[in-house]
Amino acid sequence: MGLEKAELLKDAVNSVLFTADRPDIVMDRGEGMYIWDTEGKRYLDFVGGWAAASLGHSPDAVKQALNKQASALITASPAYYNRPMIELAKRLTEITCYDKVFFASSGSEANESAIKLARKYGAAFLNGANEIITLTNSFHGRTLATMSATGKEKWKDLFAPRVPGFKHVPLNDILACESSIDHKTCAIMLELVQGEGGVHAAEQDYLNQLRQLCDEKGILLIFDEIQTGMGRTGKMFAYQHYGIEADIMTLGKGIGGGFPLSAMLTKDKYNIFDPGDQGGTYSGQPLAMSVGQAVVNEVIRLDLSTNARIQGLYSIQALEQIQGKFQLSHIRGKGLLMAFDLPQPVGKELVQDCLHEGLLINAPNPDTVRLMPPLIVTGQEIDQMIQILSRSLARVLQPSVNET
Ligand SMILES: *Cc1c(COP(=O)(O)O)cnc(C)c1O
Repeated sequence: MGLEKAELLKDAVNSVLFTADRPDIVMDRGEGMYIWDTEGKRYLDFVGGWAAASLGHSPDAVKQALNKQASALITASPAYYNRPMIELAKRLTEITCYDKVFFASSGSEANESAIKLARKYGAAFLNGANEIITLTNSFHGRTLATMSATGKEKWKDLFAPRVPGFKHVPLNDILACESSIDHKTCAIMLELVQGEGGVHAAEQDYLNQLRQLCDEKGILLIFDEIQTGMGRTGKMFAYQHYGIEADIMTLGKGIGGGFPLSAMLTKDKYNIFDPGDQGGTYSGQPLAMSVGQAVVNEVIRLDLSTNARIQGLYSIQALEQIQGKFQLSHIRGKGLLMAFDLPQPVGKELVQDCLHEGLLINAPNPDTVRLMPPLIVTGQEIDQMIQILSRSLARVLQPSVNET
């Protein structure tokens, strides 16, 4: 280990609040599909900045947008409009079914905005209804309200008391959803493909019925597209696969290409916040706005949603070719949001072994591996990923699996 790295890691342990089991490396530089640590070791990135680095690492379009905007205006305060804020809002209304956009910095904040808007709507039009139905196994963020919205069993009693007003029902179970709606319900919120939960997609029939249910009861439908939006699933937005429009949609991760940017989008009739209801020092922050414009332009210019669809299919095929050898199961995904299950709970060991071999992957739980590379990934890089993954699987899995 180099002296500089040893010192950095020592300082890290001494000064960085412990919140995650991080490996003993320090990331230093990125370009395209690759990221380098301080020792100059290169990693092929199939975590993709946690699905945020949609254009790959340090893309020219984002660098240029940041440089240009930094020279023009870094902040005007949220009290005033700024040019890129207006331009990005207009662009997003053009490429979605929505009319109005609120900007924030993280996905959690975008979801907080959606929760607030749904409660505001319930207060104004549904006799004060303020409960939101969300799904078991869902993930909506790490603020207190979005943790309460999240359907993780492990979080049930964490940081008690929970924010009240959330009920959880299983994905793709319309009867469970229907029977949990009552006079206190103001909205249903879900991910179209559960990301952190291990890549599980909503079924077409289920969504049709959810939309109908919301219309009948007069309650709002909210799609959390923080992970699925901006080309990730093979269309610009996952709702376009289904042809179903929610009343509110949230975006994050990919829209910022790695820069902190999120958004809540809604239709004109839900433009009901009063001044002071929602805001934030960095809402519509010019640097973030200019990055958002650059990302939207590049995703469209390079047709990255089509690339996500093609490379997603190619990855699934490649995984199917090694499936038998390693007893992988449930190879699944939409576009470049993919996962598969392992025959043994060795997710952590596999992630470590791949890291050592120069490949970044994610294991959302001990027997599931998730892949979410930048949308610019090519077949060659997928082949390379499969090679490293195969070698690591051979090392990490117990012999009973390797011999078959
Ligand atoms: C990541 C994620 C969030 C939270 O976004 P942050 O930027 O981490 O606050 C919310 N919902 C979904 C579906 C996500 O994938």
